[in-house]
Amino acid sequence: MKNNYQRCIRCILPNTLPVIEFDDQGVCNYCRDYEKSYHDWDKISEQKQNEFKNLLQAARKKRRAYDCLVP
Ligand SMILES: [Zn+2]
Repeated sequence: MKNNYQRCIRCILPNTLPVIEFDDQGVCNYCRDYEKSYHDWDKISEQKQNEFKNLLQAARKKRRAYDCLVP
C-alpha cells in the first residue's frame, strides 16, 4: 500500500484507481462529475427515465432469456 493512500470522503474510491483526483476537501473527481451532471435532478429526471426505458426496450427486442441486469 502506498504511504500516501487516500480515499474519497464520499464514495470511498481509493487513489489507487487510475485517473482519480481529489480536491482540497477530499472529494474525488467522479463525485464532482456526478454533481455537475445530476445536480438538478428534478429537471432531467423525465429525460433520464425515458433514456432508461429506451435501453430496456432495446434489450427486450433481443429476445434473450433475460431482458437486462440492473445493478
Ligand atoms: Zn468520490
